[in-house]
Amino acid sequence: MNNYLCQKCKVSVQGSSSPNSNGCPSGGNHNWTNLGSVGTHDYQCKKCQTHIKSNSSPNSNGCPSGGNHNWTKLT
Ligand SMILES: [Zn+2]
Ligand SMILES: [Zn+2]
Repeated sequence: MNNYLCQKCKVSVQGSSSPNSNGCPSGGNHNWTNLGSVGTHDYQCKKCQTHIKSNSSPNSNGCPSGGNHNWTKLT
């Protein structure tokens, strides 16, 4: 299972492959980024506030707020 984040509407979902891209609430199709494997620790990006579960620091590419994610480990 991987964490996917839409660059446009900032929704995050878990899935084994890239989720359906239809119907982004921000308009058009979702623009998914793979943030890495789902794990047991909570991480939150200080910039876009995305909150996902991962075993190690998630992929930092493509923060919807601009540049790279700035992950903080919560647990
Ligand atoms: Zn979207
Ligand atoms: Zn971010």
